Amino acid sequence: MADIDEIICAKAAGKSYLRGEQSVQALKSVSFTLSRGEFLIITGESGSGKSTLLNLCGALDIPDSGQLTLFGADVSQLSDGQLSALRKQHIGFIFQDFHLIPVLTAIENVRYALDLRKVEKATEKAGALLAAVGLADQRDAKVNELSGGQMQRVAIARALAGNPTLIVADEPTANLDSKNKESVMALLKNLCQQHQVAVVLVTHDRSLTPWADKLLVMQDGKEQVTHE
Ligand code: ADP
Ligand code: MG
Repeated sequence: MADIDEIICAKAAGKSYLRGEQSVQALKSVSFTLSRGEFLIITGESGSGKSTLLNLCGALDIPDSGQLTLFGADVSQLSDGQLSALRKQHIGFIFQDFHLIPVLTAIENVRYALDLRKVEKATEKAGALLAAVGLADQRDAKVNELSGGQMQRVAIARALAGNPTLIVADEPTANLDSKNKESVMALLKNLCQQHQVAVVLVTHDRSLTPWADKLLVMQDGKEQVTHE
């Protein structure tokens, strides 16, 4: 599956939620494709459907109208177990508030993700991943003693543990100052360009849009503008 160049293909994908007895159409119809090495930024007002769309891209949920294929597989045809396997094998997740284990060191946080995947030589590999995000000298620091930018870089190293072809990131720079914001974006861009990873990043921050190869501006559950 990882050999497929087209990572995501959405065709009029939609998603509704039930709120009480009322159906809320969080996502009305979104169509786009994302290939290896491409950086997609999804932006738009609060409530426009960004997180709903990101959940679909991360195989955390499936559309209830239209179609979404991930790595060539129609997600609506997959069981929960198959979706979970797909996440574990192909997708790395990055969050606004990092989701690190605060009492563990940087290297222990990354090692944990490698251990879950039964990767051999996990300590050595975790050290290499931390070095790749510029944190070789912080490997034994407790993560709650690191700066926000450093924590997000640990989280990126952890997201890389499964050697993903797709990274989905929900507001990864929202808690960072402008210098750290820049370094996190440069790191993600480098993953696209040097390692052919595809990135989907949701942000409120319009100043980030120049980093994107593709931009999806969401408005009321639909795409407002798409350009490359
Ligand atoms: P954004 O991330 O752009 O703020 P969301 O995708 O979170 O937008 O939400 C889009 C719309 O769907 C909003 O009106 C939101 O209230 C609604 N929504 C999102 N998730 C749920 C849910 N689990 N149950 C009910 N309504 C939801
Ligand atoms: Mg959201």
